[in-house]
Amino acid sequence: MQMLSNNIYLIEGPNYGQYPYSNFLYIDDRIQTLVDTGWGNESLNSLGAREIDLIINSHFHLDHRGNNHAFPDARVWAHRLDAPAMRSKDTFVDYVGSFSKEDVGTSHIDESPVHQEFEDNDLICLGEVELQVIHTPGHTPGHCSFFWKDEGILYGGDIDLSKNGPFYGTMASNIDSFISSIKKLKNLNPRIYVSAHKGLITEDIPACLDKYLNHIYEREARILDSLAIPRNLEELTMQKIIARSFGEPEEVNYKLEMYGIIHHLERLMKSGQIIRDGDYYVEARPQGF
Ligand SMILES: [Zn+2]
Ligand SMILES: [Zn+2]
Repeated sequence: MQMLSNNIYLIEGPNYGQYPYSNFLYIDDRIQTLVDTGWGNESLNSLGAREIDLIINSHFHLDHRGNNHAFPDARVWAHRLDAPAMRSKDTFVDYVGSFSKEDVGTSHIDESPVHQEFEDNDLICLGEVELQVIHTPGHTPGHCSFFWKDEGILYGGDIDLSKNGPFYGTMASNIDSFISSIKKLKNLNPRIYVSAHKGLITEDIPACLDKYLNHIYEREARILDSLAIPRNLEELTMQKIIARSFGEPEEVNYKLEMYGIIHHLERLMKSGQIIRDGDYYVEARPQGF
């Protein structure tokens, strides 16, 4: 565990918290708290036998709350929009996309109770530490970041500032929301940024957030370039513009890419930059050319 301030500790997941593991926070305060619980028993080794009163989850994905079951006496809190996908496997599958059930099955999906739902800007007082809920949707509808203003510590969750991100390859993801959320975090001007998959960022945080945001615009520009000639969804997906390569299981990664492309196409159609003709999409050209 790495101390970030008097009360807040970073717990680094195995393999530097890279997926399917993650990094999360332990808060040693009047209310003993975990902000996310990670995935896999070994993630909890450094915590020892500490009793946990409260779990605050950033979102419903298993790499962030797969260990909730290890604390059966703790209360679990999550945002109103992600809580249903924690409580129910079926809603989990609805949020991710039905392929997740067909290709991977649902046996690994652990349901978790959510005892209380929070909203944007709620203040969670743990004793000395007071966390502000920052609703940062896009990755998932109810994704939240948590800010302790006094110390300038921000837990950004899966706004993870990784070179492969942002990730919006599921049914319930939304690129416009993701863009707004990145800007929202930049405005908080944190001193310490905790990324769930990249660890601590303490330097050039606004520039890191800008670079991460630009990944979205770069992908979009490449999709638009590609649509100088008409292409269908499958052709665009196979160009691997978002993921660059499909690791195993390939069919799942193909579908995650496909959802990401669909979200980009919706955005480009809304802004009038492309048009759809049957199964094909093509760049919109000014009339008369
Ligand atoms: Zn996630
Ligand atoms: Zn994650």
